[in-house]
Amino acid sequence: MERKKLSRRRFLATSTAATTLAVWAPAKSAPLIRTTNTATPALLGGTPVRTKPFPRWPVWTDADERAILPVLRSGVWSRANVVAEAEKQVARLMGAEHCLLTTNGTNALITAVYGLGIGAGQEVITTPYTFIATIHAILMNNALPVFADIDPETWQIDPGKIEGKITKNTAAILPVHIVGGVCDMDRINAIARKHDLKVVEDACEAHLAEWKGKKVGTLGDLGCFSFQNGKALTCGEGGAILGHDEKTMDLCYSYHNLGRPKGKYMPRDRGGHPIAASKCRMAEYQASILLTQMETVVEQTRRRAESAKYFTAKIREIPGIVPRKDSPDVNQLSFYYYGFRYKKEAFDGLPRDRFLQALDAEGVSMSKGLGVIEGFPMNREGAVLSTLGSKIFRSVYPKETLDSYRDRNQCPKCDDLVEETVGFHQRYLLGTKEDMDDIYNAVLKVYENRKKLS
Ligand SMILES: *Cc1c(COP(=O)(O)O)cnc(C)c1O
Repeated sequence: MERKKLSRRRFLATSTAATTLAVWAPAKSAPLIRTTNTATPALLGGTPVRTKPFPRWPVWTDADERAILPVLRSGVWSRANVVAEAEKQVARLMGAEHCLLTTNGTNALITAVYGLGIGAGQEVITTPYTFIATIHAILMNNALPVFADIDPETWQIDPGKIEGKITKNTAAILPVHIVGGVCDMDRINAIARKHDLKVVEDACEAHLAEWKGKKVGTLGDLGCFSFQNGKALTCGEGGAILGHDEKTMDLCYSYHNLGRPKGKYMPRDRGGHPIAASKCRMAEYQASILLTQMETVVEQTRRRAESAKYFTAKIREIPGIVPRKDSPDVNQLSFYYYGFRYKKEAFDGLPRDRFLQALDAEGVSMSKGLGVIEGFPMNREGAVLSTLGSKIFRSVYPKETLDSYRDRNQCPKCDDLVEETVGFHQRYLLGTKEDMDDIYNAVLKVYENRKKLS
């Protein structure tokens, strides 16, 4: 009776809304929505769980546009007042004494390693589960990266594996807060104090993450950030070094500015450039975007952490899906990438690539590590192995050190993780609970159809 009165157009609108609702309904009361999930997988011709796109990244508003126009029109595009102001604001936001902005995170790391006086003949202990830039920062300073395996639950460097890697040449530890987690900074700092080592935090994936109420990047001697396009705080390309020692920060400044003297510690009687250096100054328009983006980063970080908490509680119920874990001392999570382990045994041997294909067909794209790992842990990367064979390395490092390098840098826990990582970009976490439910439903649907998909 009612239906007759509806025009065809209105009927279609109503029925579409109803279908959408059914798919989108939060699965609070019944976590396994079997009616949806036993349907034919989209990869085999069924209806996808999701057709709507996930939130975009980056996000910008009129505020960004209003701020950048005067910078553009001023004609001052090289480092000047806007960068200096952004440095103050980043330091304030992160709870740091000093901040130096750079062209990008890679150069922030290279500059930080240099600024701590680390160079040829010295070793830096780091994690194999990271982005290549961490390793370039060590190699470009002619220092030797030494790999300590990861904790299989948190995916961060395992502090218990660090001391065994220390030699008389070890100069620093370079922990990386990777894919939304935080390293155990208490244990890392204690080891560093005991052996008189420097600590450089690579916090390029962990803006505003907190360890015991203190923000990452302020917990070691220097902390580095990236503001690259995909990162949780971005200005397209950009980087930052945080620190508390004025002399070290001045040396970093000098290095990022062609070796020109900076501050009261550098010699002024050796020409205009007392050190050989690079040039990696942030531009004014980068800083302008960074300033306006900082206005929303706290809320976005909270939102991502909330989505991740909700999603983790659901997804871990699916057999073979093992989310990354965090120490209770991590009181603020921050995400570049949400990661979990895919255990194909629980999916009747369905290969990870097939799992990803099936999810993609359901409208939920995931990856094997967001281009961060690409199947190669850093201890086996070409950049490391080719550098070991370079003239400078062969002249600086003892032959035994280089010959035994591969054997001494095995990281079996990381090798396993690289084979099992699945996850998605932080922008998904900016969505609603219903968005998280769609991701969950897509994974569940693939799980329930694992035999058909094999
Ligand atoms: C992104 C990233 C970097 C490098 O930052 P860029 O700004 O891209 O140069 C370094 N380390 C890690 C862990 C990163 O994720």
